[in-house]
Parts: sequence; C-alpha cells; structure tokens
Amino acid sequence: MRSPAAHTQPPSASAAPAPVARPAAPPRAEDGYLLDAPVTAVPGVGQTQAERLARLGIATVRDLLMTFPREHRDYSALKKIDQLPFDEVATTIGIIWEVQTTRTGGGRTRTVARVQDESGAIRASWFNQPYLQKQLVKGASIVLTGVKQRFGNRVEFNVRSHELPETGDLINTGRLVPVYGLTEGLHPKVMRRFTKWAVDRCAPFLTDHLPSALRVHAHLEALPEAVAQMHYPDNAEALARARRRLAFDELFLIQMGMLTRRANWRDGPAAPALPVPASLIFANPHADADDTLDPTSSDAPLVAQQNGLWPMTASCFEASLPFSFTGAQRRAIREILADLRRTQPMSRLLQGDVGSGKTVVAAAALLATAANGYQGALLAPTEILAEQHYRGLVKLLEPFGLLVVLLTGSQKAKERAQARDALASGQAAIAIGTHALIQEDVAFHRLGLAVVDEQHRFGVEQREALRRKGQHGQNPHMLVMTATPIPRTLALTLYGDLDVSVLDELPAGRQPIITRWRAGGQRQEAYRLVAEEVAAGRQAYIICPLVEESEALEAKSAIAEYERLRTEVFPDLRLGLVHGQLRPTEKDRVMRAFRDGAIDILVATAVVEVGVDVPNATVMMIEDADRFGLSQLHQFRGRVGRGADQSYCYLLSKEASATASERLSALEATNDGFALAEADLRMRGAGDFFGARQSGLPDLKVASLADMPLLAEARSQAEWLWQRDPYLKALEHLPLRELVFRFWRNFAAH
Ligand code: ADP
Ligand code: MG
Repeated sequence: MRSPAAHTQPPSASAAPAPVARPAAPPRAEDGYLLDAPVTAVPGVGQTQAERLARLGIATVRDLLMTFPREHRDYSALKKIDQLPFDEVATTIGIIWEVQTTRTGGGRTRTVARVQDESGAIRASWFNQPYLQKQLVKGASIVLTGVKQRFGNRVEFNVRSHELPETGDLINTGRLVPVYGLTEGLHPKVMRRFTKWAVDRCAPFLTDHLPSALRVHAHLEALPEAVAQMHYPDNAEALARARRRLAFDELFLIQMGMLTRRANWRDGPAAPALPVPASLIFANPHADADDTLDPTSSDAPLVAQQNGLWPMTASCFEASLPFSFTGAQRRAIREILADLRRTQPMSRLLQGDVGSGKTVVAAAALLATAANGYQGALLAPTEILAEQHYRGLVKLLEPFGLLVVLLTGSQKAKERAQARDALASGQAAIAIGTHALIQEDVAFHRLGLAVVDEQHRFGVEQREALRRKGQHGQNPHMLVMTATPIPRTLALTLYGDLDVSVLDELPAGRQPIITRWRAGGQRQEAYRLVAEEVAAGRQAYIICPLVEESEALEAKSAIAEYERLRTEVFPDLRLGLVHGQLRPTEKDRVMRAFRDGAIDILVATAVVEVGVDVPNATVMMIEDADRFGLSQLHQFRGRVGRGADQSYCYLLSKEASATASERLSALEATNDGFALAEADLRMRGAGDFFGARQSGLPDLKVASLADMPLLAEARSQAEWLWQRDPYLKALEHLPLRELVFRFWRNFAAH
C-alpha cells in the first residue's frame, strides 16, 4: 500500500526526531525569587493563559513546577510506519498527505488522513472530531499514537492521541516527552514550553524540605533534581528515581501529619484512669503468661460499688457469656484494658473481620469503664445497627446491674427525654445511639469511654463531637472499630495516628461459608438452594443486578427484579425489598421484618448496606458479582454464616473475564478477609480498594498506597525524625513543618 506520492521525499519525516534542545539560559540567582511569583512571570503567559492554568490549580511558578506530567511519551520507541504492529498501541511519526472528513450514519463523522514516512503510508482515522479537517494541514508532520487494525480488507490506524509538532519542537528534551493533563485552549506544546522554562530557570532554587541525613539514609535524590527529571527525564531510570523521591514526599507528609495528630491527642487533656481487676473480665485471669496487666488486686472494691452507683451484681464478664473468648479477643481486651488504666487518652482501632466478635470486646471495655464509675457511649452509623447493639449490650451488661439506654432520631420525644435524663444524672451507665447521641442536648454525667462502630462511616466532626462530651476538661478514651480488613502497612497509613488491635481469629465452631461461583447466568442451582433453605426454616439474601447510571434507575430495576422473583421464581415465599430510594424509616421497617423472620428472602441493591446480624440467614446470592470489589463481596458474604448452620454464598457473573475469574476464585478459595484484602489491593491498587471518599486521605499525585516498601520507609523515616525533633520545632525543619501543615490543611476532613 505504497502511496502514489511516495517518490516525493517528504520534508522532514526522514527519521525519528533528533531532540533539539533549545539552549537553556543558565539559572541566575535572582530566579529563585520567581518561584513564588505569579505564573505570568513565565514568558508567554499572559492573562488568558494564566486563567487557563488557574483551572489546573496553577497560580505560581512553583505550582507549575509541581504539576507533574500524567505520563511520558517515549519518542525513542517510535515505529516506522511499515513496522507498526497490528492490534497493539504504538506511536509513529509521518507527514500528512491528504485529509478527508465524511459523515457516517447517525450524525457521526469520520476523519481519515493519509500519513506517510519513508517506509510507507497508512490511513489514520478519527471519529467525531470534524474540526480536525482544518487542523491537519497537508505537508505538516504528525505524531500518532494508536492501534493498527484490520477492517475487512482495509487496514487503518485507529488514533488515540496525536500531536502536531513544529520542526525542532520535539521537544527540547531527551526522548521521554511529558504529557500533561490539559484544559481547553492550552496546547500541549505551549504547556511544555512553560514547564521547560520553569524547570530550567527555577527548579534549581527549590529548597529541599527533607533533612539531608534522612535523604541519604533513604536513598532519595535531591528535590530540584527530582522535579526536573520528573518533567524532562534523561531516561527511564532517572524518571523512576524522580518518581520514588516525589512519591516518598507524599507518603512522608502523611506520616508526619499522623504523628502530629497522635501526639496532639496524647499530649492533650488527660483521660480518667480506669483500672479493673482482670478477674472482672476474664474467667481465668492468669491463664496468659502476661498477667502484669493488673497490679490492682483482684478483690479491690470497684469504684462504682464503693460509690453505690451501680451494684455490679454479676462478678465476671466472661463467666456470664455462653462462650469463652477467642485468643484474639483476649489479646485485644488486654491491650484495651492496659490503655484504659492510663491517663493518656486511649486512641485505638479494633480491626476484625466480619463475625470476629468485636461487640463483646467493646462490651468488656464499657464494663471496665462502668466499674470505675464512668459512663460509656457507643456510636453506630444506622438505626438498625444501633438497635442491634442496644439489644446485644443490654443482654451482656444488665447482669452487672448496668442501665443501658438507646438514643435515636426516630424515637418518641418522651423516650428520648428519659434516656437523656438518665445519662445526665449518671443513672445510666451506657448509651448506644446514632447521630442523635452527639447532639447538643445530650450531656453525660461522666463520660469515660467513647466507642465508634464502623468508624469509616463517620467524619472527623462527629468523632470530635463525641469526644467533647467528656467533662471537666477530661478527654474520654476512644475505641474505633471497623470490619474492613486492611493490610497492615496500609493500616499504618490510614490509621497512623491510632494504635491497632486485630481480631484475626473467628470464634471456634464457625463453619466456613461454602462459596460457589457460577458464570453465564446459571441461576437455577442457586434458586433451588434458596428454596430448600427457606423450606428448612432459614432465610436468604439476593443482591440485585448492578445498575450504575443512577440510583433511580437502579431502584427501578431492583423493583422489576423483585417483582420477577416474587411472581415467577418464588411465588409461595415472603419476599422483601430494600433499595437506595426508600425512605430510612421504610428501609428500617423491611430490615426489621427480615430480622424478625417475617420475610424469607430479602432482595436488596448493592447501595444498601445490609448491616444486620440475622443468624438465621444462610444463603447470600449476588448477581453481577464480577463487578464488585473483593472486599465488598466479602462484606456481603459476611452477612451469612453468623449462626451454627452451614451457610452458602453464590456468586453469579454474566461472563468470565480473566480478572473476574481471578477475583471470584479467590473468594471461592478463602474466607479470610485479610488474605482477600491483600489480594484486592494487589489486583486493583489502593484507589479502588477504598474509594477515595472512604480513605480520608488526599489525592496522591505520585505515590501509590499499594507501594508497601516505600510506605514502610516513609513511616520509619517519619518516626526517626519525630524522635529527634517532635513537632518539628528546630529551625532547620521549619520548611518541612510548613509543608506538613499545608498538606494536611487541604484535607482536614479526616
Ligand atoms: P462483628 O465483629 O462482625 O461485629 P459480632 O460482635 O456481631 O461480630 O459477633 C458475631 C457473633 O459471634 C455474635 O453472635 C456473637 O455473640 C458471637 N461471638 C462473639 N465472640 C464469640 C466467641 N468467643 N465464641 C463464640 N461466639 C462468639
Ligand atoms: Mg459489628
């Protein structure tokens, strides 16, 4: 397919462009001041360009330097046109010989250009960009990135991105050309001219905020060099080094912020010391090698008893339970009790897989608090969960003569007032509630411990509001709980300000949930099992097919699915439906009916978190399972297997792509949430693992939370520096301190 015009040697397409470096003026000392000058200091940036740059968050020259390219285009890997591979992304350069735009059906247009180099010619095609007809000038050179494909007997180069370099423009750099995220009206070429100028003139004057000892120790290159190489790398290795340094910076700033927050908390107002004899909690208090925990003699009178506050009628928590603690629960409780004995406020995360038994651990801590004559509070994200905790804790703690009260938004005014009075007078020892618990009008007599369940569902203000319920300048101790297992290094980052206890063991006798993945719409087997289990007196969940466009559409399709299941598949059974468009009261009504056994099958959309503990439910059936993350699927599955009966989880997917199969077979293979979390993180990266909203962390521009070695390095370097200079008060650490402050201020929402 040589073009008839091939004999004409096109002007400059003879070879891959030799990088034509414009001689950069050597940096002058006064250029250092330019760093914080408005971006209009850059030659060529006038008002219009400045406005465009502002849209990218660039106000100063420093901002421009710190706006890194999305990627680099490797011009050293340019292919000759006759060497372009089929069905593979590749980049080539040639001369435009002919351009034609045609209408295809449905108002679409197609632009085809014949592009040629000395090896051959190809038809490059674009869809729906009619303006290209004018932009693609005959005789100009063009860089194309795309895929060569065969359509019938035609071969075409399907263009993904292209560029029209000017002669000598490619691009004052080595072979790796930066590609920036752009905004309307800002051309790649122009942007590169700006950044090139900034890198040459100003980057050398960036002061390195990292102490040089730390840099040497962590093998990090200096900031000016890293920034320059990040834009215009000499080669791939230099780019990797620059990335590592800049990624380290982000992770390090997170760690410094975490350490600051943790120290603020620890050095802030004290909490009450809440010692208890181990014999109050453990049936066999000296079973562990480490019994140094409670120097308090086991028959010391309890403060609450002494004061005649609460009678403490039962005498040992574990003995009052129908089971004994798991080793992991025992360990976590000891860690918590050790914290409670101190006046330094506890700030601990209790992490445990679904069903690992976090509630009794929290109950033990609440009991220890009450035994000291202090009150405890437990905050839950939804009414149904608050009620569930309330019923559970009443059962667990009333044998000790403790009054437990519930506070929710849907309560009657009278009930609420009663609960409030009991708390204010000190008559009630424990309060369980939703947001209603942290309202202004709720006052505690003496709050000693605040517990937050499913802590990721709350923002910092809510936790702070709870904290402020402590009285007389005292802080309550704080225990936060989460059922999302996260790999350890990641936990250190996200919860770097907290101490962590992990329940990595399920109560004995749990039968592993049998998980089966069925591709290609084979539902019959699952439906049969649902029918059998319901016939045996048990219940089931069915998670509806996923509709992502909108919650309204999702609800609509859920209603249709519910109707289908109700009339065609299970006409004789009692079905209930919950979706995101239901009013909270309606949702709670259905959930309660399911909990109370008035519904056999709960049909639900994925937006609805089925947060209830219904031990009688034994089947979880999930449609479109391939479209959920591993962690979420694991949470769904955790809704069954909570009782003594064998439980089942059916994962249904339309097709069996390679990645879906990797994930779904991981679920089939293990019930271990931590193992799945590791796998999930590895397969998807941290961004998807959490969903940015949940993580409470800033958008990381360079770093990846999946980069475990670098995370660990950042953590240990931050600790090293903190030991040397807590709060970074030394003069030489001033720039770093400011940076930490600025970095955290931008996402103080955590
Ligand atoms: P989660 O960690 O998911 O919040 P829960 O606290 O709701 O788990 O506990 C799940 C179930 O396990 C509850 O019914 C609870 O009574 C039971 N449980 C907790 N600890 C033990 C144990 N050590 N042995 C047996 N069952 C336990
Ligand atoms: Mg729970």
